[in-house]
Amino acid sequence: MPQHHPDESLLIEYANGSLHEAKALLVATHLALCPVCRRAVAAIEVAGAALAFEDAAAQVGPMPDVTAAAVETRATAVEPNAQIPEPLRGYLGRPVPELGWVPVMAGMKEYPLPAFARRSSVRLLAIEPGRRMPRHTHEGLELTLVLQGNFRDASGAYAKGDVATADPSVDHQPQAGGGELCLCLAVEDAPLKLTGLKGALINAAGSVRKLVGR
Ligand SMILES: [Zn+2]
Repeated sequence: MPQHHPDESLLIEYANGSLHEAKALLVATHLALCPVCRRAVAAIEVAGAALAFEDAAAQVGPMPDVTAAAVETRATAVEPNAQIPEPLRGYLGRPVPELGWVPVMAGMKEYPLPAFARRSSVRLLAIEPGRRMPRHTHEGLELTLVLQGNFRDASGAYAKGDVATADPSVDHQPQAGGGELCLCLAVEDAPLKLTGLKGALINAAGSVRKLVGR
């Protein structure tokens, strides 16, 4: 059972359909793993419906594409990516090991989801057990959902289903736990800003990648 959940404001935006697709994908995938938030979203939807009933003129946003019920139904299908819950699994299309992984640094690779125009903002991260990510801050909000394995940083320990929330005030250096590969879905409002020396080198490499069109 997840211990770290998305902010209530995200669940409310998700329930009334106003959340951006990238964050909605992360929240919906968390819901597949978290009965607590599924109940919360259902309660928010009921409250929203009651408000609409009281005031016929109230404009209620469209229902989310992915209801908890639909998520649960589809998650029962057995596929190569059975460990990846819907709706994320549908966005991948291929088994995790066969995705177009891009090395970021020793022990860490990423797969930007092609469905999103700002590709770097929505990606899978794979971090080898025990690896430390470079120290970094964010220009916007970063949400990280753990799909497999675990990691920890100064704010706590995150295991499967947990959502870590980092705002621009957080300068952190997550470290993957031992045992198995740490697989996460990360959604960022703005690119992360690396801070340490290694970070400066990787930032430079990223700029070069952009210049050569990768
Ligand atoms: Zn939750």
